[in-house]
This record gives sequence, structure tokens and C-alpha cells, in this order.
Amino acid sequence: MTIYLHDTLQGEKLPFEPHIEGEVTMYLCGPTVYNYAHIGNARPAVVFDLLARILRRRYKLTYARNITDIDDKINQASIETGKPIDEITAQYIKAYNDDMGALGVQPPDIEPRATQHVDEMISMISLLIEKGFAYEAEGHVLFDVSSNPDYGSLSKRDLREMIAGARVEVAPYKRSAQDFVMWKPSTPELPGWESPWGRGRPGWHIECSAMSEKHLGKTIDIHAGGQDLVFPHHENEMAQSTCAHDGAPFARYWVHNGFLSLDSTKMSKSLGNVLLVHDMIKDVPGEVIRLALLSAHYRQPLDWSEETLESAKRMLDRFYGALRGVTVSESGPPDAVVEALEDDLNSPKALAEMFSVARQLNKSTDAAERQALASQLRAAGDLMGLLQSDPDEWFAGGTGGELSADEIEALLEERKIARANRDFAAADSIRDKLSSAGIVIEDGADGARWRRS
Ligand code: AMP
Ligand code: ZN
Repeated sequence: MTIYLHDTLQGEKLPFEPHIEGEVTMYLCGPTVYNYAHIGNARPAVVFDLLARILRRRYKLTYARNITDIDDKINQASIETGKPIDEITAQYIKAYNDDMGALGVQPPDIEPRATQHVDEMISMISLLIEKGFAYEAEGHVLFDVSSNPDYGSLSKRDLREMIAGARVEVAPYKRSAQDFVMWKPSTPELPGWESPWGRGRPGWHIECSAMSEKHLGKTIDIHAGGQDLVFPHHENEMAQSTCAHDGAPFARYWVHNGFLSLDSTKMSKSLGNVLLVHDMIKDVPGEVIRLALLSAHYRQPLDWSEETLESAKRMLDRFYGALRGVTVSESGPPDAVVEALEDDLNSPKALAEMFSVARQLNKSTDAAERQALASQLRAAGDLMGLLQSDPDEWFAGGTGGELSADEIEALLEERKIARANRDFAAADSIRDKLSSAGIVIEDGADGARWRRS
């Protein structure tokens, strides 16, 4: 089967064909490193990690996820905290990678940093001036949107309407309100680099155009990011790159994830409803958060609530419950799971297919069949970045229980002895005690097993 992806530029789901047979390049706009990633920021990291895993099954993938370490918000954080910029960015790069790692996100192949590519940005800006797509004004370099007839095609905006609707206060150095900054002057206390236009710093959009060209070439197969980046960020990246490259397509497929809201509200610092992954993983296993993020189709909005996590936890309990006590062997994932994921990354369908395997596994009494099904389920988990724990450890490691695994085991042993002595009152009282601590006991032929509810 062919992989299908929804392309924002064409506005439809298309069969995926890489530019060079057998090889795929993918670029995801990564974090701006001045604070911890919130759960919305984690959505593209997790979703495109899954896409990378799917692509790697068939192609040699080069996946770049950049780090924006030049940005006014970083400068502001440095002024506010009194910490040097390098210290702030190093701290949050590490935190980002640790936090995403906890969500099962594999490191990308390349993690280019803006600060290490300023020369490439200056070269690209110079080329755009030379070719007549950009102009210098008062130490700034601006992209002249009127020079690019395709401007607006990605975000489906009409440039004339945009100009007509523009607010009145336009910076005096701009020829048109829509022209965007590729280079701007820096004051002595702010970070700056020498350039043909004086000491200054690059704008955000040129960072991605220059870094993707350097590492992935002029035409990349997949450019990914959150929906909010379509305009202006991706529209501007596309304008810069196609104009610098004499019209060569910049990205063959533009793939965007939908937005995550919190209890039906936009997550925002000013509303005080921002959930940081860094905090969440102290209380909730990363795998639960990953599954919760993958429980909705990546292009759909995802409304996050306590229930999202609870239901993800229940799903994992069901998977691990089915796998418990069954030895797994080498296997590929079920075709139905792969087909769902190759069809525009339909993770909810893939999860439903995994449930169907888990149900068959629970029903089956044939040892060989149970082993085959468990192996397939585990392989599906490998592909999704889930089910990596030992099932017994999963149930032992639940969060929020007051009893430790050792204490629970000791109580179960006491209960076993009580039952052997036909002291059912004592056995029931131990069961009640465990139950009120959120421990569920499952009596089976080979003794009692427990899990946290
Ligand atoms: P930023 O650091 O704001 O540039 O965001 C990093 C990535 O997270 C971008 O791909 C954004 O599109 C994405 N993003 C930010 N907020 C959300 C959200 N609430 N839901 C989904 N994606 C988001
Ligand atoms: Zn970008």
C-alpha cells in the first residue's frame, strides 16, 4: 500500500512519493527555547515522531527538527532573569529533549540550531536581494511580497485583500505592510552578528529556510508543524526558499497538526491554563500522555482534560492486561495497524485495530495463538512508541497508590495464607483494604495478580 498524507498546499490527501526514490527528507519547526514545552507543543513532536517511525519502515529518512535559539522572547527571558542567553537556551534545549524523550519521542537525525547557521541565513538574504525579491531599509532587510505572485497560496490568502485589510501603522521602512523582516538591527546589549547591513540578527522565518536547505537540500519532501504556523511562518519560509531557488518547490508535502485546547479553552499563559510536560511527567507515565496525544487524528482539534488522561490510562491497562503473562516473540505489526497509520497517520484507527487484537488475545485459549497475537500487539506498540514496559512492571508502577509494590505483595501473601486456612473474613478484609487503596486483584489459575485501578 502507498502512504497517504494530507497536503495543506493542495488541500487534499495525496499519495506520498519522495523526491528521490527510497529517500525521504522531513523538516519540523522545533521549539523556541526560552521556557518549558507545554502539552500543545508536545503534539507536533509526538505526531511527527510517529510519522518518522512509519516512514523509516520503507525509506531512508533524514528528519530534521530545528531549535530556534535566536528570538526576541529569549532575549526578553534573559533580561527578566538576568541569566545569560546561552544558559537559558542550554537549559531549555535539555529540558525539551528530556521531556519529549519521556513521551517516547526518538531524537531526530539532525537538530540544527539557528545560532550555528547565521552565515547561511546571511547568504540566503543576500541572494534574495540580488535576485530582486528583497530590499534593505534602515538596517533591516525585508522580503518584498509583491515580487512573489504565489505569496498567499499556502495559507489561501489573497495578497490584495491582505494589503487592503492591513492596519494603518506600518513601519516606515516597509514598502508594503505585508513585507516581512529577514534581518533586523540589534542594539549593543542584544545578540548580534556582523552582516552587509550592519550588526543585527535574523528574523524567525529565514532561520528555517536556511537550515532546511543546508541539511536537507533545496526541495524537501515533508515540511511539518502545527496549524498555527501555516501563516505567516510557513508562507514566508516558502516565499523565501522558492524565490532563492529559482522557483524549485520548497516542500513537496506540507503536513500540519491541529490545535490542542484545554477544557475547551485556548491554552495561554495569561489565562494561567498552561500544562507543562515537565510537570505532568512527574505524576503521569509519559506513555499515557503519548497515547492520549495519539488518541485523536493529528489533523483534528484535541480538547485535553483530566478525562483524556484517564481514558488513555485505561486503554494502556487493557493492552498491558492482555499482554500479561504471555511470552512474545519476533513479529511484525498487524497489517491493519500499518494500513491505518499509512493512511494519513490514522492513529485512532490504529489503536482500534490494536484493541481488536487485544480482544482476540483475551478470548483465545490456544497458547500458540495467544503468543502470536501478543507478539503482534507488542510489535504494533513498537511502531506507535507504546507498550515498551514489562506488563507486570506497568501494573506495579501505577501512580497515586498509597501502597508500594512490596506492601501489596505482602498483603496478597497474607490473603493467600488466610484463604488456605479458610479464614475468609480475614481474606476479604485484606481484599477490601487493597481495593480502597485502588488495587484491583485478579484471581487466576496461577494465583492472584494485582494492578492499580
Ligand atoms: P512554538 O514554540 O510556539 O513555536 O511552538 C512549537 C510547536 O508547537 C509549533 O509547531 C506549534 O505549531 C505547536 N503548538 C503550539 N501550541 C500548540 C497547541 N495548543 N496545539 C498544538 N500544537 C501547538
Ligand atoms: Zn520553521
